Amino acid sequence: MKKIIFIIIDGVGDKPISKFKGNTPLEQAYTPNMDELAENGICGIMHVLEKGKTPHSDEGHLALFGYDLNKYYPGRGPIEALGIGLKLSHGDVALRANLATVDKNLIVKDRRAGRIESTAPYVKLVNKTKIDNVKFIVKAGTSHRAAIVIRGKNLSDKISTNDPKKTEKKVLKVKPLDNSKQAEFTANVLNKFLEFSHKKFEDFKLNKERIKQGKLPGNYFLVRGPGHYKKIPSFKEMYNRKSCCIAGGGLYKGLGAIAGMKVLKVKGATGTPNTDIKAKFLAAKKALKKYDFVFLHIKATDIFGHDNNPDGKKSFIERIDKELPIVMNDILITITADHSTPCANKDHSADPVPVLIYHKDIKPDSVEKFGESYCRKGKLGVMQGKDYMGKVIELAR
Ligand code: ZN
Ligand code: ZN
Repeated sequence: MKKIIFIIIDGVGDKPISKFKGNTPLEQAYTPNMDELAENGICGIMHVLEKGKTPHSDEGHLALFGYDLNKYYPGRGPIEALGIGLKLSHGDVALRANLATVDKNLIVKDRRAGRIESTAPYVKLVNKTKIDNVKFIVKAGTSHRAAIVIRGKNLSDKISTNDPKKTEKKVLKVKPLDNSKQAEFTANVLNKFLEFSHKKFEDFKLNKERIKQGKLPGNYFLVRGPGHYKKIPSFKEMYNRKSCCIAGGGLYKGLGAIAGMKVLKVKGATGTPNTDIKAKFLAAKKALKKYDFVFLHIKATDIFGHDNNPDGKKSFIERIDKELPIVMNDILITITADHSTPCANKDHSADPVPVLIYHKDIKPDSVEKFGESYCRKGKLGVMQGKDYMGKVIELAR
C-alpha cells in the first residue's frame, strides 16, 4: 500500500489568456517538477460536481474526498467552527459570524467593524451564555470573524441570516425558514442571544476606547451559514487510511477536521499569497512518516483568480513547483483543484480542473506537461469528482 499526498491547488484551473498566447496561467508557468510527474504519471480533467455546476470550495473538497453532498454536506457554519478549533457535538447548530458596527437604530455602518483586529475580547463577554436551556459557545476567528455554536435540544438550521449584506440597512431578524417548531425556537433564541450580545458590546469598555480613538465599535454579530452538525463517516472509516490535513485557511482545516483528519499546525501557513510553501511541504514530508494520507491545501491561486491577476497566479504556481521535490519520493502524488477560478471570471467557474496521479510504478500515458489542455488527452479521461478518491486509493494499492 503506497502512501498518498493529495495536493489541492485551490482554483488553479483557468481559461486561455491572450497575453499568455492562449495558455492558461498553469500552462504558462515554468513547472518542471509538475511536468515530470505528468510525464511519468497519468492525467485527465475532472468535473468536480456534476458537469456545468460551479463548486464552492467546501462542496468541491467534500466531493473530492468522496462524500455524497446530498447526504453529508453540513453547511458552512460547522466547517468554519471546526476550522477554528471548536469541538462540535451531534445536534449542534453552528454559524459564521462577523462583528459589525451598527448605530442606535441598528442600521449597519460597517459589516466588519472597521476590520477590527480581533473579536477575542468580545467573544469572552458572551461565550457560554445560556438562554432558554440553550448554550451559546462562541470562538474568535481571524480579524472580524467568529463562530457561534448553539447547543441544546430541539434545534434546527432552517433559519435565515440577520445580515442585510449592505451598509445603511437595518439588521434583520433571524426568521424560521420552515414551519417546524424547532426552526421557530432556534430563530427565537438566536435573536435573544444577538440582542443580549449587542447590549453587552454597547457597554463594553473597549468599544468606548475605540470610539475615543475615532475607531468604529464592534457592537453586533451578523450571522450566516447555519448548519446542523452531524458526524459523518471519517476518512479512516471510508478508506482505512490514517490521514492528516495541512492548510492555512480555517475553512480547509475545518474540511479536514470534518473528515476526521488530524489537522496539523504549520508555522507560516497563512492561506494567503505570503504563505510559507516550503514549510508546508516540509511538514507534509514529516507527516508522511506517521500518516498514510496527507491532504495538503494551497490557497492563493484562487485569490489571484478572484483578483484577475494572471501573472500573480502564474508566479505562485512556479513557487509551488519549486518546493514539490520535497515530497517527490516513493509515494503516490496526486494534484488537482476543488474548482477553476478563471482570472477572466474573477470567480469560480464550472470549467473542469486538471488532474494528475503519479507513482513510480504507474504505466504513464502520453501527457508530458501538467496543464488544462494537455490533461484533456490523458488516460484518466473526463472524470467525475465523486469517483476521484476511489481511483486514487485503488491506484495506491
Ligand atoms: Zn476553492
Ligand atoms: Zn474562491
